[in-house]
Amino acid sequence: MDYDVVIVGAGPAGTSAAYSLRGKGLNVIVIDRLGESQYMRYHRICGAGVNRKTVSRLDIQEDEILNHIRTLRITWPQGNSIDMKIDGCIIDRPRMFLRMRSQCIADGINFAMGTVRHIIMDGGMNSVVLGNGAVIRARYVIGADGAYSIVRKTVFGTVPEIMMPIEEYHSEAETEDGVMQFIVAERYGGGYQWYFPYGKGRCTGGIKGYAEDEPGGTRGIRTVPMGWVEHIVKGNVLLVGDAAGMPNPMTAGGLRTAFESGMKAAESIVRNDPAKYEKWWKKSKTADRRFMKAHLVFSSMNDEELSKFSRYMVHKGVWLNGFHSVIHNPRLTWLYLGCLQALRHGW
Ligand SMILES: Cc1cc2nc3c(=O)[nH]c(=O)nc-3n(C[C@H](O)[C@H](O)[C@H](O)COP(=O)(O)OP(=O)(O)OC[C@H]3O[C@@H](n4cnc5c(N)ncnc54)[C@H](O)[C@@H]3O)c2cc1C
Repeated sequence: MDYDVVIVGAGPAGTSAAYSLRGKGLNVIVIDRLGESQYMRYHRICGAGVNRKTVSRLDIQEDEILNHIRTLRITWPQGNSIDMKIDGCIIDRPRMFLRMRSQCIADGINFAMGTVRHIIMDGGMNSVVLGNGAVIRARYVIGADGAYSIVRKTVFGTVPEIMMPIEEYHSEAETEDGVMQFIVAERYGGGYQWYFPYGKGRCTGGIKGYAEDEPGGTRGIRTVPMGWVEHIVKGNVLLVGDAAGMPNPMTAGGLRTAFESGMKAAESIVRNDPAKYEKWWKKSKTADRRFMKAHLVFSSMNDEELSKFSRYMVHKGVWLNGFHSVIHNPRLTWLYLGCLQALRHGW
């Protein structure tokens, strides 16, 4: 059977694309390689912290929110700790995706299990080749198949600038509810250690090999791809979310861009204008190249430099901290602005 759209991957990016294609009169199929229990395990590996505005657009339900987040705490070397007001939540991502999937199915969108091995671009129709030899033909293909995207590899032949393996633990250890905490220090290998509430327990992690152990916790590892790939549209094939290397290089947050890119890709398909999707991404604040530059500078800093960078962040308000830091350290104005932008657009 031929389809209008094949979505490869039913993570946040693929699910959000499918959700946005409901009721548009298109024949859509979503293919994911994972059976239910593997799917639940794979999608639990995530801090699951996300800006509330982003998930609200996907009709998030109260029982899909594990924790409400009101404070972002950053602790710098030598103990300087700052709290900032934010509005976010920790989502039960498998639960949210399965609810969205049910709504899609009720609206006529098909879901199937299968591993995509290859895409053949063929004039107006693309062929999606599965591991069992089956071929599905479709006018549009959305590659939502994560960090090691087969769609990106076979159609675009590119790899994001940084492929960062992240290690995390879910445990029953207590943590302060409503607070997402990041500890920045040289010993975290150019990254940070995070502590997020996760229901009644907590989720913690960092770059693989540098993250602190969490005795008794359940360990998971996945790769976060960061930095651009040159193109995210080729013919009628579109890359979204991690497949497009969209996570923010400063925060490593990729849920927002996964959800947003899924929506935008769907929108451009409905308008039959895929190029518009690439234009949106290149202009998007979340795609600003300065995030990567800032990531590279931070990851090269030692404790003394990090401490110096944060020395004047001793006030309650973000703006006051920024103002004092810039006055005392004008050469790094762009980096302070980068932090502010990451706070607003990086999760
Ligand atoms: C440890 C960790 C913690 C994180 N914490 C946060 C956080 O707190 N906040 C935040 O914003 N981001 C976080 N991220 C990033 C976030 O998880 C990702 O950016 C997001 O999951 C990307 O969604 P996606 O749909 O693009 O890809 P994925 O979530 O990777 O989904 C891809 C889907 O495609 C399927 N698939 C893959 N290959 C194929 C194939 N060949 N055929 C068929 N199906 C296929 C997979 O089974 C999967 O279901 C974290 C990442 C990690 C690793």
